[in-house]
Amino acid sequence: MTDVTVDFDDVTADLDDVMVDVRGVHKSFGPLEVLRGVDLRVRAGEVTVVLGPSGSGKSTLLRTINHLEKVHRGWISIDGELIGYRRSGGKLHELKEKDVLKQRTHIGFVFQNFNLFPHLTVLENLVEAPVSALRRPRKEAEETARRLLDRVGLADKAGAYPRQLSGGQQQRVAIARALALGPKVLLFDEPTSALDPELVGEVLDVIKDLARTGTTMIVVTHEIGFAREVADTVVFMDGGVVVEQGPPAAVLDDPQHERTRAFLSKVL
Ligand code: ADP
Ligand code: MG
Repeated sequence: MTDVTVDFDDVTADLDDVMVDVRGVHKSFGPLEVLRGVDLRVRAGEVTVVLGPSGSGKSTLLRTINHLEKVHRGWISIDGELIGYRRSGGKLHELKEKDVLKQRTHIGFVFQNFNLFPHLTVLENLVEAPVSALRRPRKEAEETARRLLDRVGLADKAGAYPRQLSGGQQQRVAIARALALGPKVLLFDEPTSALDPELVGEVLDVIKDLARTGTTMIVVTHEIGFAREVADTVVFMDGGVVVEQGPPAAVLDDPQHERTRAFLSKVL
């Protein structure tokens, strides 16, 4: 069963270097149309920062990329693989839950509120998914976990519980956990919005480090300075569409649309 409209010829066309491909995506909640034809292409190794006012559909867009929300029209692919559906006999079929879960292991998601497992140690937070979802040997998963904790500056916290950590430390653990599955792309939904101001920098530094080493990322944030420094592309969304996108210098310093100017004048 499917209610998705797809131009099949499009699915394989024009995918050179494109890691995340969002085409004509529509999404409604009841009568409320939240995404009204979103197009977005993210190249491998690039960082895309998504800006936009509250309610413009940013979180919903990230959730459709992860197939936490189904789209009503259009399609999304990651590394050339259609998300949530497979094609056969010229038709689209919804994937089974277990196949969706498998696809989701390629997509790391970092939430505003960290969402760590409170009853597990930091190390166990990182080991759980690789062992249960990818059937990695525990020893190997632990080695990877320790390496990633070292990378986010938390090697000494492996045995701690989330409640014993600051918000900034918890978010760095959440980033390490997202990396533990070896994802093709990392999605961040306002990763610093729940943090005290003095803790924002340490989390942004970790994301900057990932950017330097070629991790493909889509980051929803209001941190304009971060966007200017790290983004390859800045996307401005409003009312469920991409209003404009381009290099940071273009979108942030010379916006072409009145809605972008109005938004930036409030946040800059
Ligand atoms: P943003 O992240 O840009 O603030 P969202 O994607 O969270 O925007 O939300 C866009 C719109 O969709 C808002 O009007 C929000 O209330 C609505 N919305 C989001 N999720 C749901 C849902 N599960 N059910 C109904 N409405 C929703
Ligand atoms: Mg949001």
